Amino acid sequence: DTTHFGYQTVKTAEKVDKVAEVFHSVAAKYDIMNDLMSFGIHRLWKRYTIDNSGVRAGQKILDLAGGTGDLTAKFSRIVGESGQVVLADINNSMLNVGRDKLRNKGIVGNVEYVQANAESLPFADNTFDVVTIAFGLRNVTNKDAALSSIYRVLKPGGRLLVLEFSKPTHEALSKAYDTYSFKILPKMGELVANDSESYQYLAESIRMHPDQETLRGMMEQAGFEECSYANLTGGIVALHKGFKF
Ligand code: SAM
Repeated sequence: DTTHFGYQTVKTAEKVDKVAEVFHSVAAKYDIMNDLMSFGIHRLWKRYTIDNSGVRAGQKILDLAGGTGDLTAKFSRIVGESGQVVLADINNSMLNVGRDKLRNKGIVGNVEYVQANAESLPFADNTFDVVTIAFGLRNVTNKDAALSSIYRVLKPGGRLLVLEFSKPTHEALSKAYDTYSFKILPKMGELVANDSESYQYLAESIRMHPDQETLRGMMEQAGFEECSYANLTGGIVALHKGFKF
């Protein structure tokens, strides 16, 4: 059905352009907006991710959709001189902000920056001990392709951690959260970053993202084993974990 196919293609291209536009637009204000919008709680979600990563000195880590490098900075300290962290992101504005921030913090030597699309990673099979993707998967157009690509580049025994917005577990929380993300977030984006549209996109992308069980199923479909998740902050965010054996 060519009409349907044509429609799908347009939608896909639109999404890719939209995501690129949003992250070019928010890059400079990304860190401050993260702190404001989450009341600083994103730091706790990221800390929990690090604590569940099992990362050790000497390992090779991929921080995919790594943006401004919060996780990369922490991993860099853990893996030390004998290890390596690759911060990969599709967007060069986000990569530049991340690289400048980390260099200013003196984080150099074991971090590499790569512009790459999660759907077709430019790394050899069985390269990484751990792959993380934090608040990135919902922006990826073809999530199944991304999960397969991640699976391919993980070493046997390696693990994937997906930190992402998810589905609140209680109705009341869900309603409050909807009001917050659709009414308040775009206003904050307008006031602080002069960009309500990008924050409107953010709210919509969160609403569209697969819920906890759906994402776990998608990970299993891509080949991951022992897939599990933990709800954080009442399911506003979930950390999914899966292994390649
Ligand atoms: N991981 C960082 C964090 O937790 O603060 C940044 C998250 S930011 C919300 C999402 C990032 O995903 C952006 O930097 C964006 O450029 C990146 N991204 C979107 N689509 C991507 C894709 N297909 N491949 C790789 N990165 C992508």
